[in-house]
Amino acid sequence: MRSSVRLGKIFGIPISLHLTFILFVAFLGMVYAFQGGAKAAISGVSFILALFLSVTLHELGHSLVARAFGVKVSGIVLLPIGGVSQMEEMPEQPSREFLIAVAGPATSIVLGLLLGGASLLLYGPAATFKTTVTGGLFIPNLARVNLLLAIFNLLPGFPMDGGRIFRAALANAMPFDRATAIAASVGRVFAIGLGLVGLFTNIWLVFIAVFIYFGAGSEANRVRIKTAFHDVPVSRVMATKFETLNPDDRVSRAVEHAYNGFQEDFPVVMDNELVGVLMKQDVLAALHQFGPGALVGRVMRKQFTTVTTDQTLEQVYAAIQACGCSSLPVLEADRIVGLVTLEALGRYLVFAGAGSGASRA
Ligand SMILES: [Zn+2]
Repeated sequence: MRSSVRLGKIFGIPISLHLTFILFVAFLGMVYAFQGGAKAAISGVSFILALFLSVTLHELGHSLVARAFGVKVSGIVLLPIGGVSQMEEMPEQPSREFLIAVAGPATSIVLGLLLGGASLLLYGPAATFKTTVTGGLFIPNLARVNLLLAIFNLLPGFPMDGGRIFRAALANAMPFDRATAIAASVGRVFAIGLGLVGLFTNIWLVFIAVFIYFGAGSEANRVRIKTAFHDVPVSRVMATKFETLNPDDRVSRAVEHAYNGFQEDFPVVMDNELVGVLMKQDVLAALHQFGPGALVGRVMRKQFTTVTTDQTLEQVYAAIQACGCSSLPVLEADRIVGLVTLEALGRYLVFAGAGSGASRA
């Protein structure tokens, strides 16, 4: 399940390598060894380590500025096309998002210029401005790679810093969700263009284009959901008429309820107290393993997540995603008063989205 390997911490921020980064580095290492033998492989690998350090510094640029704004940074993951700083919640003040997004490319540009300056002093302009990609000297190459890193990350699509910078600029003049939608559309159009260019020039560009295209979509979705659910009380979508089970009931009772209604997950209640939940997959597993006569109390989940009536849909959605559940019991003063399902949240999104569209037209 884990797709990355933890390396260590810098400034208290955990750094890990994504498997694709490791594959990428291994692939390059093999190419170096194949082309030039052991000596080329050693210089190739040390260059890769320097490249890895450059990407880490780029991400640290983001992370340290974010942390200065009080954003919790849970770690940095390095991917072949750059890195990802995992932050708990990006600030929605455009100026802050702008500074966090700019900090990475700015770090790369400063590194590139410093290395370029060192190269000028050491090797002179001919070696520094040499345009071939393969071969060449370590320091000028590293300078070039850092500048490339900055340029790539300034591409105007969402997982890239350029997308965030663009949205922050738009968000100064319009609501955050609209700014996101526009930035995502521009990112998608840009990705299609980049992909087409890549098809005829460099397949690597196609890979980046796909990454931007889907990244733009998922960011637009995330913000759309967050905006729709913001400040909406859970009572808006929770079912207040629902069936409950008793621990002494048989699983067949859950099946009957499922046949006769829309409910697939059941709170298990004893003496007015919620003691467990029986999800659809638990019912299926119990039928398979023990048959319809199994006692609910034996097969129900005793560890489960609940929400309370004073929580918003935004919080409920985060909770339901975190537990991977299809529904959550809603409590008030420790008693169950409702059931909120993923389906109901989805319905709310559809109708709330349609409603806001009509009011804007
Ligand atoms: Zn970046």
